[in-house]
Amino acid sequence: MEGLVMRSTGSWYEVREKESEQVYRCRLRGKFKIKGLKVTNPLAVGDRVTFELEETEEETGVITEIHQRDNYLIRKSTRKVRHGHIIGANLDQAILVCTLVMPRTSQGFIDRFLVSCESYHIPAVLVFNKSDILVPEALEIQEELMELYESLGYKCLAISAKKGDGLDAFRELLKGKVSILSGHSGVGKSTVINAIAPEVEQWTQEISTYANKGVHTTTFAEMFEIEPGTFLIDTPGIKELGLMDIKEEEIAGYFPEFRALLSECRFYNCSHIHEPGCAVREAMKEGYIDEGRYLSYLSMIEGDDNRR
Ligand code: GDP
Ligand code: ZN
Repeated sequence: MEGLVMRSTGSWYEVREKESEQVYRCRLRGKFKIKGLKVTNPLAVGDRVTFELEETEEETGVITEIHQRDNYLIRKSTRKVRHGHIIGANLDQAILVCTLVMPRTSQGFIDRFLVSCESYHIPAVLVFNKSDILVPEALEIQEELMELYESLGYKCLAISAKKGDGLDAFRELLKGKVSILSGHSGVGKSTVINAIAPEVEQWTQEISTYANKGVHTTTFAEMFEIEPGTFLIDTPGIKELGLMDIKEEEIAGYFPEFRALLSECRFYNCSHIHEPGCAVREAMKEGYIDEGRYLSYLSMIEGDDNRR
């Protein structure tokens, strides 16, 4: 049988059978490895698998094969370098909820998120929440940012989860897709989810109760079908997607506006920092590349701004 991993709780996975949509509790048999990666979980929500039923009364299953992933997201381990935890597989989009104030999501943080998504081949969307509390100057900055990112090919949306503004457009954005939500704590992720899918929010609350009791919750992840064919992955504690396994010389290629210029730099291995004849810096000076984006690039190269 073939199915979709809807929930993971450590060693057990809930798998929804493709045709009947019945959910079975399954275990993994054998050892599964992902090339070049050390991950704490071989299987994640969103994975498509082959499984067989065991001859038990509870109709549990054994997963025998993990199908090739279109993409996956990894959170890097805070304890071990080059170790990670797969957050979800086969994602249609990753949504960053950001806010200009309370808290302020910096452009550096946004750009890191976008670079991560580019490197994982996951379309990224920026949702600017708390639009209701912005003073005109801040609103103007938000509009400029949205214009910038839209020009780079990223979908942007301004909403107010509290007032309900833009929530129809938000629902539309999710429709028929598998999405994952990310963002600093306090930007309003729970409020947004609660407004569009109260059942998900309730589950998230339960998980954070476990977390407060010291139960190891990082292995919990669940995919919710908020309406037929529309899935939302919510896992506790995702703040930042790590820039795992991205080589310094690859970073420029994950900035769409740099990408086209890279072959025009005088030196093939140009770092776009100090070399003469650098097409990227030239474009920035002429105003074709946003200075903030270039600064984000620099900080990623210098690797010193996990907190920006
Ligand atoms: P999370 O940490 O991202 O899940 O953020 P929460 O959903 O818990 O929201 C943090 C705070 O921001 C709460 O006090 C919410 O009431 C508030 N909040 C969320 N969305 C909005 C919004 O659109 N406008 C305003 N003014 N406040 C909001
Ligand atoms: Zn260059």
